[in-house]
Order: sequence, then structure tokens, then C-alpha cells
Amino acid sequence: DKPLPRPPAPRIMAVVNQKGGVGKTTTAVNLAAGLGFGGLNVLLVDLDPQGNASTAVGGEHRNAEPGTYEVLLDEDSIADHVQLSPEAPNLHVLVATMDLAGAEIELVSVVSRETRLKRAIDEYVSTHDIDYVLIDCPPSLGILTVNAFVAARELLIPIQCEYYALEGLSQLKRSINLVQASINPELELSTVLLTMYDARTRLAADVVEQVREFFPRQTMETIIPRSVRVAEAPSYGQTVLTYQPASAGGEAYLKAAEELALRAVEGD
Ligand code: ADP
Ligand code: MG
Repeated sequence: DKPLPRPPAPRIMAVVNQKGGVGKTTTAVNLAAGLGFGGLNVLLVDLDPQGNASTAVGGEHRNAEPGTYEVLLDEDSIADHVQLSPEAPNLHVLVATMDLAGAEIELVSVVSRETRLKRAIDEYVSTHDIDYVLIDCPPSLGILTVNAFVAARELLIPIQCEYYALEGLSQLKRSINLVQASINPELELSTVLLTMYDARTRLAADVVEQVREFFPRQTMETIIPRSVRVAEAPSYGQTVLTYQPASAGGEAYLKAAEELALRAVEGD
């Protein structure tokens, strides 16, 4: 495992796209593991009530283990509930349970509802040695995702290489602009990752071209291929980096983690 450079300051990134099934969770967990294998200290925050990111890194979350819900609703500290993932060195995870599904509504009536995740993450990174925080967002632009927009400095958008790939991105950009104007002017859409690329189709190549045109600076060099191993890994409670590191998907995610880390120090 090649050691990766530490960023000058902790990078707090939300993995977001209001479309479901585009590879947000897969990207969040595999980049988190890849950065962990690179020797970096990573906090993965599962902000999706489905808890798929928690499962994928072997986080315990089925028996109402405390996690993101308690941090948001009870204002608990992340340090009280964080679990150490067996999937990679230095990978900490704040798990999501189904309770979090109710948080979307329960948060409506609480004070500082948009800033609760930010407060918790800022406290955690200022008291722990953390290089990366990756937040796996649910497929919506509700209050949970707004919490991620407020807590993050950077957004990472996975885009699936398929028809309609760019659909919905203007809505996403409007939401980002709104958050920038009102509450988090530092938020930056820094990274776009193309996922589930199928080299056999002309369509996938077209989508790559379109996305690079739309996000010339943000789109990563590395493209994640469609790979059965990537899809299988979560059912073993694993990331593809431990399940099948030598598969095309495993190598691509490792490369993507490296590219992400190198960009940060090159100041791109
Ligand atoms: P999201 O979090 O955006 O809803 P997921 O990461 O859960 O998306 O991915 C949706 C589905 O596609 C999952 O079943 C996942 O295993 C699968 N998948 C994601 N990336 C790949 C890939 N590169 N190759 C094959 N299957 C993938
Ligand atoms: Mg998901």
C-alpha cells in the first residue's frame, strides 16, 4: 500500500447526487477504504437511512446501534458512537440505522437543524487526527442532505455513465447555489467521478465526453468501470478493496483514492 500525502487541512466531502443508484455509496465506501489503505485517517459518515455504507464497511448497525441519528437528534458527539471499521486501517465509521428515516421529519422542528452535522464534524476533526471526512448522502435534497452541504467544504458527485446522466444536475446546482448564498459560502463542487462505465457501449463514451465538457476541471481522470465484483462486495460486508482488490473495480477505486489525495496537495 502506497502511502498517500496528507491534505494541508482535513477535507470534508459530501458524496451527493439526488438520483439513486448512481454509485454514491459504493464511491464513498471504496474511496474511504482506499484512503485508509494509503495511511490516511478517515471518518465515513453514513447519512442514508438505508445504512448501505455502514454495511459495506462492516459497521454494526442492525440492532439500533447509536450513530448518525443520535448525533443529529440528541446532539451526541461523534466520538461517543464512532466504530472502527475492520475493512481498512484508520477507517472510522458513524453508522446509520433506520431511525434516520424519521430524522428528516423530526429535524424540522428543532433549532439549528441545518448545522447539527457541521457542529459535530467540526468538533470531531478538531479533536482527532482526521484527514478525510466522507459523507454518504441519501438520494434526495432534504434536510439530511442540507446538513451535509453545510458540514462539507467539498462536494463529490458520482455520475453514472448512462442515458440521462446529466439530468437533474441543474437542480442539484441550484440547491448548491442556495446553500452557498445563505449558509456555506465555502462549499465547492470540487470532484466528479464517472461510475459504472461500460467500455462496450458508445453511449458510455458519449456520457464521459459530455460530463468532461460540463465539468472540465472537476471530473477525475480515473473512471470506475462496471464490475460485478464491486456489486458483490457489500453482501460480504466488504469493500471491493478487500473483497477483490485485483479486480478492475478494485484497481479503479484504489486509483481514484490516490488521484483524490494527490489533487489535494497539488492544489488543483
Ligand atoms: P447510490 O448510493 O447512489 O444509490 P450505490 O452505490 O448503492 O448507489 O450503487 C447502486 C447499485 O449499483 C448497487 O447495487 C451497487 O452495488 C451497484 N454498483 C455501484 N457501482 C458499481 C460498479 N462500478 N459496477 C457494478 N455495480 C455497481
Ligand atoms: Mg446510497
